[in-house]
Amino acid sequence: MANVIGYNRKLANILRKNGLVDEAQFTPLVEKASKENQLLAKLVVEGELIDEQTLLGLVSEDSGVPALDLDKIKVDLEELKLLNKGNDLITEDSAKAGMNIPLAMIGDYLTLAVANPYDVILMDNLKLQFGRQIMPVLSTERAILKAIDSAFHAAEKEVAAMMEEMPVDDDLNLEDAKQEEKEDEKKSDGDLGSMGDDSPAVKIVKQIFSRALKTGASDIHIEPCEKRTRVRLRIDGMLTEAFPNLPKKLERAICSRIKIMTDTMNIAERGKPQDGRIQISMEGKKCDVRVNSLPLVYGEKICMRILAKGNLKDMKEIGLEPRVYEILNRGLSLPQGMVLVTGPTGSGKSTTLYSCLKTVMNPEENVNTVEDPVEYELEGINQCHVNPKRGLSFASALRALLRQDPDTIMIGEIRDQETIEIAVKAALTGHLVLSTLHTNDAPSTITRIIDMGIEPLMVASTVSVVLSQRLGRRLCANCKVPMPKEEIPGREECLKLGFTPEEIEGLKLMKAVGCSLCNNGYKGRFALIECMEMNNDIRRVIIAGGSDIEIRKIALETGMISLRRAGLLNCLRGVTSIEDVIAQTVGDETAAEEALKKDKAKNDADPTSTTVQAIPA
Ligand SMILES: [Zn+2]
Repeated sequence: MANVIGYNRKLANILRKNGLVDEAQFTPLVEKASKENQLLAKLVVEGELIDEQTLLGLVSEDSGVPALDLDKIKVDLEELKLLNKGNDLITEDSAKAGMNIPLAMIGDYLTLAVANPYDVILMDNLKLQFGRQIMPVLSTERAILKAIDSAFHAAEKEVAAMMEEMPVDDDLNLEDAKQEEKEDEKKSDGDLGSMGDDSPAVKIVKQIFSRALKTGASDIHIEPCEKRTRVRLRIDGMLTEAFPNLPKKLERAICSRIKIMTDTMNIAERGKPQDGRIQISMEGKKCDVRVNSLPLVYGEKICMRILAKGNLKDMKEIGLEPRVYEILNRGLSLPQGMVLVTGPTGSGKSTTLYSCLKTVMNPEENVNTVEDPVEYELEGINQCHVNPKRGLSFASALRALLRQDPDTIMIGEIRDQETIEIAVKAALTGHLVLSTLHTNDAPSTITRIIDMGIEPLMVASTVSVVLSQRLGRRLCANCKVPMPKEEIPGREECLKLGFTPEEIEGLKLMKAVGCSLCNNGYKGRFALIECMEMNNDIRRVIIAGGSDIEIRKIALETGMISLRRAGLLNCLRGVTSIEDVIAQTVGDETAAEEALKKDKAKNDADPTSTTVQAIPA
């Protein structure tokens, strides 16, 4: 904490002036405080020279800052977060570092408990940090630390309290009770507010969903460890522990509870992977949750994907590069052909594909999807949920759909030869086909389809646009700073990364810092997209049986934006950091090769280049 010395001096004066301390005991504490940069207030209370209440009263009188018994107040950070437009007001670390805790917020005024009322610089910093007028109230270091601890660990404490209440043999009769439980709870519509049951597992599951929705998590992992159960949430792409230490003995009950909430999962079956779906609603928010279970060494792992409803964005809103937007639009406006989005799981392929669907849907067209499962329900689109157990595969659903006079067809994922064959045929016969594939980059998608048994000529004439997508991490707008000149990589390294020689001149980059509003300097994500538009040069290479490397080469020469280039363009705009781009585009060095080639060509043409010429003897 800053300006401890000033506060200590003031306090020493106040206490001495009032004759409240025994000098023989006091002097060593004053020395200790100054030597260890500790708050004298804390030392005198701990040393029982004066009680906390008296001390607060004296300092309050002297500083004019009202004192408050923080022990009697419940700090509700979730409430403050809502008032702060859904952004966390403060992190635990920054609260501890600044030794303060926000208590209330009205309009532009934030009431904050502080331990040092004399620190003007801290007040100014807090004003900047929170973007509000600060109304300080006085408390002690001890009480503030305690308040920080209970405010940030409220949910864990609640879980711990539930454990205390839990009867010891709760898990023993669970087995017998489960069938009955299943009957009872089938009636529940999944509304968390009306679960009614107050068994610990139900309470914990409710807590887990509540925390996930409040933090905007995309996935929930409930993981069996040897001696405990861990719950992690994926927030902005990173897993963070939410409930790290749930007791092992509750694990089965938690798994069962979640399985019961789905319609399809069997709670007695723990040896096989299962899938299910839950619809939850909480505080007016509704969303679908896709549930998967997998037997692991130490028990069953449950993984849940939260599919938010009603936040579907159109193509303009998902932050595409202007050129990608243009190319994609061109592909979508064709009456036939294939637009493909590829990338690993969780790379935002579905979001991009749905935004494409939103773009093409209109009352004059018959837009259809075949999905497993249906991720977003869209008004005005015919969505078919594939169900292999009942004999409805991607291929059979597609075949049936083609007899329903479709204009546009979105296929959730192309996994097998039969599906790709029907998709290609549809795309050749006057239908626009959108789909996803699991490939690493745009060019290898072409060779993948050929490997699945489609003639190169057919591929060349149907595929119009291929995107390969990742999610980049967006730098926090509140705390990002320009990267100091000395930290910017040198020219050679920049060329290797894939910046062009022109960009390297006066290169400006931003870097992550970290503040109370973000996660280590990053907040939110954006689509990082490699974009290949089919053209005659690429077609020629495909038909000639070119490898993915050859396709990639010609695609880059004819204007493909590689993944790395897309990342670098976002770096130049200050959207993300160079570290994140490198992490997201490992293995995509083609941009660098191109840049190095251009640089070499420039140097070769430039007689003033620094290349040392051998002097003839
Ligand atoms: Zn930040």
